[in-house]
Amino acid sequence: AKRRGRHQAAAFDTSLDQARQQDYRLRMDLRSALARDELHVAYQPLVTASGQLHSLEALARWTHPTLGPIPPDVFIPLAESSGLIGALGLSVMAHACRDLVALRRQGIAVPTVAINLSAQQLADPLLTQHLLTHVRAAGLTPADLELEITESAIMNTDSHAPDQVERLSAEGFEMAIDDFGTGYSSFARLQTLPARTLKLDRSFIRGLDSPHGQLLARTMLDLGRQLGMICVAEGVETQAQAQWLLGHRCEVLQGYLIGKPMPMAALAQWARERRAP
Ligand code: C2E
Ligand code: CA
Ligand code: CA
Ligand code: CA
Repeated sequence: AKRRGRHQAAAFDTSLDQARQQDYRLRMDLRSALARDELHVAYQPLVTASGQLHSLEALARWTHPTLGPIPPDVFIPLAESSGLIGALGLSVMAHACRDLVALRRQGIAVPTVAINLSAQQLADPLLTQHLLTHVRAAGLTPADLELEITESAIMNTDSHAPDQVERLSAEGFEMAIDDFGTGYSSFARLQTLPARTLKLDRSFIRGLDSPHGQLLARTMLDLGRQLGMICVAEGVETQAQAQWLLGHRCEVLQGYLIGKPMPMAALAQWARERRAP
């Protein structure tokens, strides 16, 4: 038994080592992918209750040369823990600005593009300046962009996020609170934030098949309305969910039912097909 134990420990060490090596490798590869501008961006449409395009959410995509597509839930945390998230965020911003201009030139009316910002980016005092530089370089204004910040990033009391949000908003960027309902926000705190949009987390939309879930969703929609915010439902996958949400005056829907995140060309095609009678 003793022998087997030692054997197992050795095997465990090896796999831990492998995991660490794989992690290290991935970090290096992400760094060079960023340097070579190899990340791309997918766009997911958000539509209003009347079916109009409300905005596009820009979502980072990375196809590794040998491992294939790496999910954002893997490479975003990796970027955050290796000091790469600032560069990644600006790369997404640059792509999104360029693609927004290109889509509008093709006659597709895109009111805004939404970009995700991580908590770490908000801690960078130069963030506002950097974002403004990219927006202006593309010939756009801050109001063409909406910046999504998770509820937990904003409400973390010892973060600089609220100041940064204030600064970004003062420059004219629209602000959205992402993954709403997963953190702990007080009404008072929410009221002081200059955010236009409240994005109900996908978990609440999934819960709409139970009376309890419906009560939660209704409460959050009421809260958003009382704060004068635009309520967006994330992760709408079924017609039943969409019907319920529209019946409860949720203004904007996002999810696979409406459209998956798509490369720019596919998004343009999606928009043209929708417009056609
Ligand atoms: P998120 O900001 O909450 O983005 C929405 C996620 O939900 C996206 O996952 C999207 O593909 C997925 N989704 C949309 N509709 C549906 C649906 O109907 N059903 C289901 N099951 N999922 C749906 P994705 O693209 O894998 O991104 C995951 C997360 O990675 C994002 O969550 C965001 O937190 C982060 N992320 C992605 N791109 C960026 C970026 O450029 N910067 C930062 N800081 N974070 C990013
Ligand atoms: Ca988001
Ligand atoms: Ca979200
Ligand atoms: Ca999320």
